[in-house]
Amino acid sequence: MNLHEYQARDLLKAAGIPLSDGDVAATPAEAEAIARRVGGTVVVKAQVHAGGRGKAGGVKLAGTPAEAAEHASQILGMTIKGLVVNKVLVVPAAEIATESYVGLILDRATQKPVFMVSDAGGIDIEEVAAKTPEKITRLAVDPRYGLLPHQALQLALALYRDWAQARAAIKIMRQLYQVFMANGCSLAEINPLVTTPDGSVLALDAKIVIDDNELDRRPDLAVLRDESAEEPSEVAARRANLTFIKLDGNVGCVVNGAGLAMATMDLVKYYGGDPANFLDIGGSSNPDKVVNALKIITADPRVKVILFNIFGGITRTDDVANGIVTATRQFTVNVPIVIRLTGTNEAAAFRILESVGMAAMSDMDAAVSKAVALAKAAA
Ligand code: GDP
Ligand code: MN
Repeated sequence: MNLHEYQARDLLKAAGIPLSDGDVAATPAEAEAIARRVGGTVVVKAQVHAGGRGKAGGVKLAGTPAEAAEHASQILGMTIKGLVVNKVLVVPAAEIATESYVGLILDRATQKPVFMVSDAGGIDIEEVAAKTPEKITRLAVDPRYGLLPHQALQLALALYRDWAQARAAIKIMRQLYQVFMANGCSLAEINPLVTTPDGSVLALDAKIVIDDNELDRRPDLAVLRDESAEEPSEVAARRANLTFIKLDGNVGCVVNGAGLAMATMDLVKYYGGDPANFLDIGGSSNPDKVVNALKIITADPRVKVILFNIFGGITRTDDVANGIVTATRQFTVNVPIVIRLTGTNEAAAFRILESVGMAAMSDMDAAVSKAVALAKAAA
């Protein structure tokens, strides 16, 4: 679950990380009132689940409350990376001497939280990582011991030569680590962490992603979810209890089991196609899941073909076949459907589909290459 910047700021502030005051506004008038209360030059910042807001025109300095209202009216309603801005954050503007990057991610390779810091902060860290990876210092933290003093020192010295600033950075990194561990984060990031001309160290941006698996035991975090800011198909899938991730391709995939779903996406790529989504309909035999899955996938106009890949173990393939028949009776699917079924009740499944004029196959390679060819022909 992505948090908005203003929500992430609250978690960081509670841990003691230095951040400016400010507030969030949904209208230009509210933004103006906050700017007046804060006083001086302010920054008006789009609150969307996307980085690169600065480049997209979603971060603007305002010298007066009236200007803050003007910027807010421009930014509210604008679209950044496909996401509509419903709120802006209004905070006092800081003067910037240097911009650094401080991030903490859960690293699957080392199975540890890994710090990444760079004195080339402010801009896209992905770009720094791609072009000048030597500018990023990485350090894995053993969760049994936490961030040890010498590790924090090493990270801080990668950012600052000044001793007072290094000490401030050490404190911030310890606090960031605490926020990360206490809230089940998969990512906690400050970009930029700035120094001001008077030498103080300040966090100007905050990004936090919380592992969805944390939310059942943390209702206080679960309420921070903003569904209006999320990909509608992912919201619909979560409500339908489907594990779904939207992607950019045109081959819609309906698969049972996460491993098979990954393998299916790999095979789509192998045959030169692009998956439109990751979808695991799970191990149950519930035809409703198939109906919901088809509704969600076909809502995307980019999808040119739907590929079912079902390995029947606990999942009964005849139930899936019934689901496909039910779904295609409930609404018109305007793209071809390629079905691969094998395993439990396979013969019955083939009969059900044949009775409504739909063909199925049992070979995975054949089905995937056929789906890719159909998608290419329609593109
Ligand atoms: P992002 O582009 O979505 O990561 O949004 P950020 O909050 O990181 O802002 C992008 C850039 O705007 C920063 O790297 C700064 O250069 C600039 N910026 C943000 N806040 C301030 C501020 O208080 N003062 C000044 N002078 N620039 C700011
Ligand atoms: Mn940023």
